[in-house]
Amino acid sequence: MLRDEVGLRSETVRRTNLSVILRELHARGALSRSELVVRSRLTRTAIRGLVGELVASGLATETRPALDGTPGRPSPIVRPDPLGATVLALDIEVDSIAAAIVGLGGQIIDQVRVNRPRRESSVRRIVADLARLADTIGADGPSPRTHVGIGVAVVGVVRRSDGVVSMAPNLGWVDVGLREALVEVFGDDVPIHVANEADLAALAESRRGVAVGVRDVLFLSGEVGVGGGIIVDGEPFTGAAGYSGEVGHMPINPAGLQCRCGAVGCWETEAGSESLLRRAGRSPVGGRAAVDALVAEAEGGSADALRALEETGRWIGIGVAGLVNLLDPTLVVFGGLFQRIHPFVAPTVEAELDRRALAAPRRLVRVVPSGLGVEASLLGAAELAMEPLLADPAMWMRSREGSARYSEPGFRRVVA
Ligand SMILES: [Zn+2]
Repeated sequence: MLRDEVGLRSETVRRTNLSVILRELHARGALSRSELVVRSRLTRTAIRGLVGELVASGLATETRPALDGTPGRPSPIVRPDPLGATVLALDIEVDSIAAAIVGLGGQIIDQVRVNRPRRESSVRRIVADLARLADTIGADGPSPRTHVGIGVAVVGVVRRSDGVVSMAPNLGWVDVGLREALVEVFGDDVPIHVANEADLAALAESRRGVAVGVRDVLFLSGEVGVGGGIIVDGEPFTGAAGYSGEVGHMPINPAGLQCRCGAVGCWETEAGSESLLRRAGRSPVGGRAAVDALVAEAEGGSADALRALEETGRWIGIGVAGLVNLLDPTLVVFGGLFQRIHPFVAPTVEAELDRRALAAPRRLVRVVPSGLGVEASLLGAAELAMEPLLADPAMWMRSREGSARYSEPGFRRVVA
């Protein structure tokens, strides 16, 4: 082998190993060097070198642990530095929008969520509102120089390759260039990634929520619409273009109501918040506040509210049974409205699963409420934006050195 080839190969190995170590730190937080050796199966010497690089570039910190009385030298503790690399995460829901700055390791540094009037749904208006919201956070946080990307969760069907929202019935969008509109306002200094909110919530639950370590997961986000995110064998299942998981538009009641997508009797017309409110005799367009009021009444024992929840639970269970037969997940995670009403609908959902799902996958599956709650998709958007850094930290470290060349007068002397 030529010397150049050997050099190239060792450089590839170094980049891969940096990625392995940074992913471990991002996923698990503080780890001792010894734990990193065990998890990565790299040598002590290699770990010392790689951690040294991450510390030098500001992505990690290292501290000596206090002596604990056991024999031998204690192993230094390595932590991801949340301010070393940050992302801007944005979330567009039907009734609210949110922005957050999230640091390496998944720590939310600052965040804000505001209710959104449903009648103002143009993409320009929403993007302008997001920009104003983003301006209100992180005033005394990290410098923008640490932003490595922008991740956006949206309640719609998204083509991942160009961030076009092909369809968002509950926003009234068809073929809307969301990423293009975001670039106009936020610029293109860092990459902007757009994906469906339920897909991103599933990603966040599998990395930081109730589904950590579970390989086959179905996340269901019920609000006005019902979205689905699927994790298969530990990896997000996106479909050919990113359109998978549109469980809300599964046909479920041929004699049912008109759906915003144009079809009749989709699952979300029976399992979404509007049908819940309608069953309780309320205005179906009351939004989150009306649902909160209904849940509070159910907690107080209101028969009307409890009956509406039970009937909605039945329709949720019918849909979940079909999805369990299709996907064979070991965990179904309820997010959004489904999470809030889980205590009321769980018995009915379980009964429908017993009645309708095949016995074998039924025995394997558990249905649980989300561990991350309303911010699951926001955290998933952060994971999406952090991904290029995690995949190749070396490239980012080099580009940061490049920018340091201009801003730090002492830099030239150091590298000379
Ligand atoms: Zn539909």
